[in-house]
Amino acid sequence: MSDRYASFAASGPGRALVKRLGLPQPPRLRRYRAGDPLLPGPVLIGGNGRLGGAIGKLLDSMAVEVRDPGEPADPNRIALNAALVFDATGITRSAGLRALYDFFHPHARSLYPCGRVVVLGTPPERCATPAEATAQRALGGFVRSVGKEFGRGTTANLVYAAPDADLESTLRFLLSDRSAYVCGQEIRVGPGPATVPADWDRPLADKVALVTGAARGIGADIARVLTRQGAHVVCLDVPAAGEALSTVANELAGTAFQLDLTAADAPARLAEHLQARHGGVDIVVHNAGITRDKTIARLTPEQWDPVLDVNLSSQERVNEALLAEDLVPRGGRLIGVASIAGIAGNRGQTNYATSKAGVIGLVQSTAPILAGSGITVNAVAPGFIETAMTARMPVFVREAGRRLNSMSQGGLPVDVAETVAYFASPASGGVTGNVVRVCGQSLLGA
Ligand code: NAD
Repeated sequence: MSDRYASFAASGPGRALVKRLGLPQPPRLRRYRAGDPLLPGPVLIGGNGRLGGAIGKLLDSMAVEVRDPGEPADPNRIALNAALVFDATGITRSAGLRALYDFFHPHARSLYPCGRVVVLGTPPERCATPAEATAQRALGGFVRSVGKEFGRGTTANLVYAAPDADLESTLRFLLSDRSAYVCGQEIRVGPGPATVPADWDRPLADKVALVTGAARGIGADIARVLTRQGAHVVCLDVPAAGEALSTVANELAGTAFQLDLTAADAPARLAEHLQARHGGVDIVVHNAGITRDKTIARLTPEQWDPVLDVNLSSQERVNEALLAEDLVPRGGRLIGVASIAGIAGNRGQTNYATSKAGVIGLVQSTAPILAGSGITVNAVAPGFIETAMTARMPVFVREAGRRLNSMSQGGLPVDVAETVAYFASPASGGVTGNVVRVCGQSLLGA
């Protein structure tokens, strides 16, 4: 479904009218294209904490130009930055938060369109004193406000880095065009092992990935991005979607596996297939999902049960079967697809929102248990994404979903897929227990 309003607002007469009426002006978001540099310009680093020096060196090693805030300004040139990175780990009390103002105030207008803001902090639960935890917790309000304020496709995100956390995959994701629709998020990076890939464009080389619901929509794009990054993808969907599934699997030189995840023998058949063909599976993406919308008073058991079963219970059953058979090796990645409806709730979606909140619970409860096995568990929570699912929405609900976010537009399936690929990377070993919303900083669930 095309966004006709965004096309109109980008046209000559549309731009003028939209500005005069004070209507949202959706920026054109820059998305990853093979061969593009990580960032289109320099990064300005500010702040004074335990990470700043290391981040500068890391960015240097990624061939990113790093600018020093102490550099005297050239009066003949507006200093433009592709990103502002602020190390806030040195802030140990609320008075220290003034450092945010001191850095961002003079540079607030210096960003390129689709610029990036990343603030680095210490997880409040790891802080030495209540005063430090308070100050670190405060960073979230700052970052989410910047995300709403800067506009022009700028994203702002907060990374809570544990001591010894390897931040490379997270910075590569948040600073690049791969995170075009990820804004206002807090990502926690722990000390887990991060394996640096030989080629950052193909970090999933030699990995086997399973993507459920891969015949179309978000699942098909997840399969595409994981394949682009080097994985062999087993594309799974219901037999009724067999033709579309084969088309996707053939396009990607992957495998098509027809299976209804609600069938009693589905976990066993899946485990058997992965064992026999691939000896296991490195990356499992639970993307299959359905809606059966009705208010609770009108909802039938036939509309409640399948939504919970497909969206939540099948994820649990598949994880249990694969883990029981030891089919997910050390370095494995379990990735769920939740929804902002699971965070904010939604009228007419008690069944769906329950299932998606359950996916978040699954991530949070399983991640610590699997940490010792070197397996990470994370989820994406998409907001309004342009797919067949959202094209079926009533027109006003659809328009609200598209506009009520910092980007004034819906996301694309590829935005969800890039976030899944970030979780899947061998370099993201310290990223576990996270739920990252891919929602352009939607007002729902914010
Ligand atoms: P979609 O309906 O286009 O695709 C879902 C796929 O899952 C379909 O191919 C379907 O056949 C498959 N599937 C359904 N039941 C299955 C079963 N029992 N066994 C195997 N496969 C099954 O949906 P989409 O918009 O691409 O959404 C993908 C995921 O993202 C879902 O989990 C959805 O809840 C979630 N999500 C989507 C949005 C959005 O805006 N589109 C927002 C939030 C969350």
